[in-house]
Amino acid sequence: MSHRTYLNLIGGEWLPARTGKTFRNLNPANREDVVGEFPASGAEDVARAVAAAKKAFATWRLVPAPKRAEILYRCGQLLQERKEQYAREMTREMGKVLAETRGDVQEAIDEAFYVAGEGRRLFGKTTPSELQNKFAMSVRMPLGVVGMITPWNFPMAIPSWKLFPALVSGNTCIIKPAEDTPLSTYNLVQTLVDAGLPPGVVNIVAGFGPDAGAPLVEHPDVRAISFTGSSEVGSLVAQRAAANFKPISLEMGGKNAQIVLDDANLELALDGALWGAFGTTGQRCTATSRILVQKGIAAEFTARLVERAKKLKVGNGVDDGVEVGPQVNEQQIETSKKYVEIAQAEGAKLLTGGQTLTEDACSKGTFFAPTVFGGVTPAMRIAREEVFGPVVSLIEFDTFEKAIEIANSIDYGLSTALYTKDVNRAFTAIRDLEAGITYINAPTIGAEVHMPFGGVKHTGNGHREGSEAIDFFTTWKAVYVDYSDKLQRAQIDNAE
Ligand code: ADP
Repeated sequence: MSHRTYLNLIGGEWLPARTGKTFRNLNPANREDVVGEFPASGAEDVARAVAAAKKAFATWRLVPAPKRAEILYRCGQLLQERKEQYAREMTREMGKVLAETRGDVQEAIDEAFYVAGEGRRLFGKTTPSELQNKFAMSVRMPLGVVGMITPWNFPMAIPSWKLFPALVSGNTCIIKPAEDTPLSTYNLVQTLVDAGLPPGVVNIVAGFGPDAGAPLVEHPDVRAISFTGSSEVGSLVAQRAAANFKPISLEMGGKNAQIVLDDANLELALDGALWGAFGTTGQRCTATSRILVQKGIAAEFTARLVERAKKLKVGNGVDDGVEVGPQVNEQQIETSKKYVEIAQAEGAKLLTGGQTLTEDACSKGTFFAPTVFGGVTPAMRIAREEVFGPVVSLIEFDTFEKAIEIANSIDYGLSTALYTKDVNRAFTAIRDLEAGITYINAPTIGAEVHMPFGGVKHTGNGHREGSEAIDFFTTWKAVYVDYSDKLQRAQIDNAE
């Protein structure tokens, strides 16, 4: 199959990397299929993009927010028209099944319409002044040039969570997409351009993390960084950003638990577990990677989960009936294999899967069998560390309190799920689970764009995307207007 060569978007011009270097984007379901060739950019390309974004900021910040929002709204409409094409292109570069890539594009559409409404809000506050004839208010201001570094698992949705709120707030942006899935970010940005976004307001610099991501983090004119990816890289990026006091929003790993109590609707809990663990081939930061099952139903739940995991149809995500696509690349396969070995060495019992798939429909891609471990204890590495693949661990427990303790015993705190019919336990879990997201009788995956998204502990650094993203992409200005026509001294003239 022939492939296209893509260029960086800098100041409205499509340009190759200064060095002329490129890298290939491969289809994980068929490594012989080259999706496209993309610029392998470096610091010079980043510097040009920053200069373009800085120039564009001078005018973009003055465009009224409702007008900025109209472009986002138009972008949402165009994405609706292009949804099927973009979903197919996303499956080709990322691997997840079509139903899920359609969902990914839909999330960008939802985000566009949601954030477009923000153009007529962006609310500040007014408050009484402590002095007479004085007015006090706070207004949201854009930050300036912001940098975004994104992962490959939601290649359109995650860029939209960052770009749209940043844009409606009046910032200009440079985005460095993940090297495995740049095309979906290109499609998103092309749609913004087609919707009328002025040149330089969004710039794309493609390339590898250390070459193209790091210079973005370090550039003095980049005022803030929004990062989604692994905790390792997130820590590195945060340390670099801290050196020049750059605000940074981090969205990182998870080790998400689904708790199933004895009284749960088992069928529902099984549906949730399969979707949570093997949706997106387990490559979601919210993926279910621990299933905590109460002793009374553990045997039945385990047997039925394994039976259903064995039946999952693995293959090319564009083919009818396929439920689980490939992993995104060889490196992810290596990680899954490594954790299978670690789990077995620690004494966990491999109940199904555990190996790469290389036959028939899987012969040309990077496929890994849906994998279930039983007999896992909370101290094992397989119960504590993120795998980011189709691998799930079953942990048995006696009491509800113990389940909460196990769920909280890890470094991460993104998503959690509880299956029960007991309303008292449901509310206790909502209060006690240390996580940014808790689902009751629903799987650990399935965030909606108008809710806060993010986690606690090593999952993030306190920021939230979704409904709270505007807080990151704006800064507050406090404004006082004194109409008394005399000097009034706060804390002094009104002391009595
Ligand atoms: P994932 O496993 O989801 O790919 P990574 O943390 O490896 O997570 O990558 C997330 C994003 O961070 C990617 O766009 C990647 O290119 C980028 N990245 C990797 N290393 C660095 C780095 N040293 N500095 C900045 N960005 C980086």
